[in-house]
Order: sequence, then structure tokens, then C-alpha cells
Amino acid sequence: LAWCRALPKVELHAHLNGSARSSTLVELASGLGEKGLINFPEVQAILLKGDRSLAECFKLFDLIHLLTTDHNIITRITKEVIEDFAAENVIYLELRTTPKCNASVGMTKRSYVEAVLAGLKAVEAVQVISGSQENHKKVLGTTLSRPIIYVQLLLSIDRRESTEAAIDTVQLALDMRNCGVVGIDLSGNPWVGDWNTFVPALKLAREKGLRITLHCGEVPNPTEVQNMLLFQPERIGHACCLEESEWTSLLHSSIPVEVCLTSNMRTETVPVLQDHHFASLYKSKHPIVICTDDPGIFATDITREYALAAVCFGLKKANLQFLAQNAVRHIFADDKVQAELQKIFDAAAINPH
Ligand code: IMP
Repeated sequence: LAWCRALPKVELHAHLNGSARSSTLVELASGLGEKGLINFPEVQAILLKGDRSLAECFKLFDLIHLLTTDHNIITRITKEVIEDFAAENVIYLELRTTPKCNASVGMTKRSYVEAVLAGLKAVEAVQVISGSQENHKKVLGTTLSRPIIYVQLLLSIDRRESTEAAIDTVQLALDMRNCGVVGIDLSGNPWVGDWNTFVPALKLAREKGLRITLHCGEVPNPTEVQNMLLFQPERIGHACCLEESEWTSLLHSSIPVEVCLTSNMRTETVPVLQDHHFASLYKSKHPIVICTDDPGIFATDITREYALAAVCFGLKKANLQFLAQNAVRHIFADDKVQAELQKIFDAAAINPH
């Protein structure tokens, strides 16, 4: 584990609220319990439960969203999540989150994202580099006393949303491009919603130059998987339930896959880890990026995910090093950031023996 921790890493598939510390969520629940707004022991038991089905996960997300309702909490969670990834030696993080409205606390989708951005600024343990190239230059031009982490945001469209709501999110992402928003994600309960609802928003995002990643094939849905692959997103997440012909299309497409081993195992989207499609993707030399998905709710971290891949699929240190460094090719940032990251990897090259 120590070797995997020391390895510089890139995290491209992490949901903000799914990455929140359990200890923070329990603390927030306890506060609501004291006010008599929730049954604390019941909520605590749900938060700390180990295995859960995919359906139970989405119920848990709704519960987490009840705990993380106001701006200050969103800012705090963002700060903690970034510090936690940095502690695992993540040097580039693409954090995704679904902008939410909450009229009772005056929250709009825009103010939600602003609260997330305030979280980036609140980070103390490391130096966050985000936003425009100008910002990058400003930070890199100063003497750095702390390790750095690049953080970029993806705004998620929830599959429960309407076409109009999805377009609002894309519009917001476009408005906030200079602040570090680089792309759009489609996520949420895969049993809910229809692909065609989201196409207008995704087309708009593409037309305006935002990058797109889609949760694809989390549950069997051949028509949707085919349509998603035809859309040619810049990356897809999961790709667990693909039939033979979709699998062939994926391999031909070279669309990078964000692989989330613990998440897929915990939600039983993949029955046995040794049979995970990581093995065939890796064997086919298909671009893959090891990611965590929801480290908070699945009690994992990116170091463990690398170690798990090594144990389950017989990868050596040199293979892990290759996977970590190669992930840089699939980030949604420009060539300059890619070049900076490659320099960090080269400088840190750890002896794989
Ligand atoms: P948030 O967007 O920061 O609120 O993070 C939690 C949200 O991410 C959930 O409500 C889901 O919409 C989405 N999410 C997290 N994990 C998964 C997953 O494994 N599949 C699909 N959607 C997910």
C-alpha cells in the first residue's frame, strides 16, 4: 500500500457527495438529530452500513443530500474531499457534482457551484491549481511551500432531470469555464430516465467545446449503451453490462473507460472481482483509468483501488506506474496541464523493483 500511496495518481471519476467523509456525515446527522429533524441512530446505521445494492446506494445519496443542504456544508465537504485525495498523492483531480437548487436556503445551481469553488479556495493542506491558464501561471509563478494538486470540475446531469434542467446545467458549466469547470457528466440512478432526454444538453455541451463523460452500461440497457457509444463521449464510466456487439464497438472506439472496482463489487454490478472487465480491457490495451467513484460511501480510496487491481489482476509495480501516468492522456485539461503532469510523473518516477 505504501508504494501505491507514494505513486502520483490522477483521479477522473469521483462524485463530490459520494466522496464526503463518513465522519463528517455522521457529525452533520447528529446535528440534525439534536434538532429533532431526523432519527439519528437510524441514519447513523445507514451511513455506516458496509455493502449495499445499487438501489440502496441511490437511497443513500438522497439521504446524504439531506445532510449537505447548505452552502457552508458544500464548501466544507469540497475542502475535505480535495485534502483526502491529496493525502493519497493525487496530483490531478476531476471532481464531479450535480448542481442543486434548494429554495429554503436560497441555493441555486449557480450558488451551489460557487460554494464548491469556495471549497477549492479553502484547502490548506496543499496548493490547489484550478481555473484559467492565467490562474495556473499565477500560482506556478510563486514559490510553492506546499505540494500541488490540480482540481477541475465536471458538472453532472442527474438522470432524474428534464431536458430543460440538463440544458441549465450545461449553460452554467459554460458560464463557469474560467473558474475550472471543464466538462459534463451524465449520472444518477441508471434505472431512471431516458437517453433522448439528455441528448440536446449533451449536444450543446459538445458544440461549445465542453468535454463529456457518461455513466454507461451500469445496468443492462443495450439500446442506451449503443446510443452512448455512437455519441462518442470523451470517456465513459463503468461499462459493466455490455453485450458482445457493444463490447466490440467499445474496443473499436478507443473511448477511455473509468474503472471503479470497489464500487462495482459493492453494488454487485460485477459479481466477482476476478471476472471484472478490467482484465479484458487491460489485455486488449484499451485505455482505462483506475478511479474510486464514491470513496466515502464505499469506504475506499484511490491507493486501495490501485492495490486491488494489482492483487486481482496480477499487475506489477511497473504496470501500475504505467496506468497512473497514462491516465494523464485522458484528462479534460489542455496540453499545458498534461505536460506539467508528465513532468511531475517523470520527476517522481518510483523504482518499480
Ligand atoms: P453529487 O453529484 O456530488 O451529489 O454526488 C452524488 C451523486 O452522484 C448521486 O446522487 C448520483 O446522482 C451520482 N452518482 C454517484 N455514484 C454513482 C454511480 O455509481 N452511478 C451513477 N450515479 C452515481
